[in-house]
Amino acid sequence: MGETEDERTAQAGQLFENFAQASTCKGTLQAFSILCRQMDLDPLDYRNFYSNLKATATNWKAKALWTKLDKRANHKEYSKKGGKKCLCCLIIGGGPCGLRTAIELALLGAKVVVMEKRDTFSRNNVLHLWPYTIHDLRGLGAKKFYGKFCAGAIDHISECIRQLQLMLLKVALILGVEVHVNVDFVQLLEPPENQENGETGWRAEIRPLNHPLADFEFDVVIGANGRRNTLDGFRRKEFRGKLAIAITANFVNRNTTAEAKVEEISGVAFIFNQKFFLELKEETGIDLENIVYYRDNTHYFVMTAKKQSLLDKGVIIHDYIETEKLLGQDNVNQEALLSYAREAADFGTNYQLPSLDYAVNHCNQPDVAMFDFTCMYASENAALFREKNGHQLLVALVGDSLLEPFWPMGTGCARGFLAAFDTVWMVRGWAQGRNPLEILAERESLYRLLPQTTTENISKNFDQYTIDPVTRYPNLNSSCVKPHQVRHLFIDGQQD
Ligand code: FAD
Repeated sequence: MGETEDERTAQAGQLFENFAQASTCKGTLQAFSILCRQMDLDPLDYRNFYSNLKATATNWKAKALWTKLDKRANHKEYSKKGGKKCLCCLIIGGGPCGLRTAIELALLGAKVVVMEKRDTFSRNNVLHLWPYTIHDLRGLGAKKFYGKFCAGAIDHISECIRQLQLMLLKVALILGVEVHVNVDFVQLLEPPENQENGETGWRAEIRPLNHPLADFEFDVVIGANGRRNTLDGFRRKEFRGKLAIAITANFVNRNTTAEAKVEEISGVAFIFNQKFFLELKEETGIDLENIVYYRDNTHYFVMTAKKQSLLDKGVIIHDYIETEKLLGQDNVNQEALLSYAREAADFGTNYQLPSLDYAVNHCNQPDVAMFDFTCMYASENAALFREKNGHQLLVALVGDSLLEPFWPMGTGCARGFLAAFDTVWMVRGWAQGRNPLEILAERESLYRLLPQTTTENISKNFDQYTIDPVTRYPNLNSSCVKPHQVRHLFIDGQQD
């Protein structure tokens, strides 16, 4: 006996809910493939997938999400009118910035493929997000996927990187983005010279070699694989030389009333509180530049510690000049590190947290880590074009690949998303047939603004934000770099 209409609707609602609530990367991809299979939806039909899914999942919860996504999709900037090219885009890396870029490219109407070398999202760090980022994520239906999204107190917002990636992955899939996990990008492959069997464009060398993505041809490639960018043509410059050592620590949150009463610490406010740091040093010997405390699934602390106090407290054993050696595993006393972070957390919260037991990380170890922020890098340029054997390729970087953030100040996702929007604006210009040198010059002009952006100097009218830079940057001068200054970023066959 066939299903009735009502039964099918109920089944679609349930399958969609399973997908929306999946709590791991693998679980999400699996629930998505079950939803597509059972509801006869073709995820490769990227042009129609979203509208087909909308017609299938019609329960109130799904509909509330469609209202949000439709609002975004209706931005005039995505209008196909005047579009000359239909683009195929490859995104290397499924971190927050790669996925955010993928969503915008999909809204623009492009075919988008994300390749991610891992199949787990395991980073549990609490994220400090800028108000505009929260507004942006709400607009993508964040709360429909993660009810606790931004339910936190005071002015800061805390969210795990893992949760953020999960929700962005779900939105990307809904909008027809193809996401492939366990695929490692190695390098770009140029279009061959003698093409006998039709046209072959730009492709990627990947691992595993026999993966179907090895045949994928694209005209846009976005490097979003974190601080270790692997795309050629982007020289890195160092922009921070001062020694900085950050420590993160997660403690178990038992959600008691006593714990809930403890005040969180927003780092930005504390950085100016010199009295606090002096007292901390006097009482404990711990010398910090800043400290942040957020309460979420765990009690999360991030602090920037001064080297001498780490040496004095026996956390760092020998004083080496090279930071890599200084913070090398052999030179760090793990027990002392655990005590150091616990003591700082205890003092920072005025000894009000009843018990500071370490949460365990994905390796089943107490969740404490020490990071080196001494050298941070930015790419010299944000984008370039390559042309080979009649095929043009737009190459761009976003996220940490473009500009490494000093993340205790929360700039990672905020500047990462701004760069994602600016990049997609550039892709739009190209799709509309604008001259490559012109859009490269515009992109580089915008990139010059990026390191200077703060919560204060970007537009406060978040509702008006689109991929169009004028909606986000007040007093924008998008032509401070001129086309003749970016000629070297148009790389054709002869220059290789
Ligand atoms: P990533 O998140 O690094 O993602 C890159 C992805 O690419 C990864 O999933 C990786 O597996 C994949 N990849 C790498 N190489 C390849 C390859 N060859 N092929 C395929 N895939 C590949 N930011 C904030 O805004 N606020 C904060 O409070 C904050 N706190 C942080 C705390 C910690 C401990 C850390 C480590 C970071 C923090 N950040 C914070 C920074 C923030 O996490 C990053 O800025 C953000 O994750 C950058 O996103 P991304 O997509 O550019 O790169």
